[in-house]
Amino acid sequence: VLSTRGRHLAVTMFDVRIGAGTLGRGGLVRDVTGAREVEQMKDHLIGMAAHEFKTPVTALRMRVESLLRVDAQWSEAFRDELLHGMLDDVGRLQMLVSDWLDVARIESGGLRLALDAVPVARLLKAAVDAVRPQGEFSVQIDVPDHLQAVLDAQRMQQVLINLLSNAVRYCNRPPAVVLRAWRDASGWLLIQVEDNGIGIPAEDQARVFDRFFQVARGNTRRPGGTGLGLAIARGIVVAHGGSIDLASVPGEGSVFTLRLPPPADEPAKDTP
Ligand code: ATP
Ligand code: MG
Repeated sequence: VLSTRGRHLAVTMFDVRIGAGTLGRGGLVRDVTGAREVEQMKDHLIGMAAHEFKTPVTALRMRVESLLRVDAQWSEAFRDELLHGMLDDVGRLQMLVSDWLDVARIESGGLRLALDAVPVARLLKAAVDAVRPQGEFSVQIDVPDHLQAVLDAQRMQQVLINLLSNAVRYCNRPPAVVLRAWRDASGWLLIQVEDNGIGIPAEDQARVFDRFFQVARGNTRRPGGTGLGLAIARGIVVAHGGSIDLASVPGEGSVFTLRLPPPADEPAKDTP
């Protein structure tokens, strides 16, 4: 394989024969840049996965080794602490595996949606309840009671939980979240998650939806995430035929907006 100016060319040489005699050498040049790029991306993904798995696996091993030490007389309380730590490690691994599978499904276009009519208010409230245990936050839900939507409730829940967890996680004062949903004049469903968090610098705003991208925060340690949440959220929203975008002012907060198309069999009310 030859590489020049960002392109990769695979060259195959062969003899050209006529009857018993050799006429000369021939060459076949194929541009394999695309295949090369896919290969490099795969290597990168595998590297990232291995790296993310290492920490919880190492921690799990150390805790198991501690419990197995025959010479140690652990107190009941300490054994308990070790076991709970192990439970957390396993939970982290399970989350990585399921995020990982979601990314693979999204990439291969294999994400299956189970569409159903759902009350949007209930969807939003359930997402808030699911995020509550992650930390105290104040929330204002602004949604018409009767608002319904046809979507995959479980998947959309996953999207909202992702956005809400981020709102709570990337905040350096008591988190205050506003959740809004409404249908616009052409029948599209809009859902907004607004926070008062640290915000996202303009130059990073397009990249936060990329797999593994995390905003560099100077010397602060990254808070446990993998950088897959928004990539998965976008994949799910796009599978619904929608889009997700972001407006953010560093130091003030961020607003994520989901746009979901009107149900196909139910044309928007204002169309003739
Ligand atoms: P994961 O969601 O996989 O646990 P993560 O939260 O780091 O990890 P994403 O949800 O994809 O990954 O977010 C990517 C990055 O975007 C975050 O690491 C953070 O730097 C930034 N970010 C996301 N949401 C917000 C927000 N509401 N406010 C400020 N920064 C945010
Ligand atoms: Mg996240």
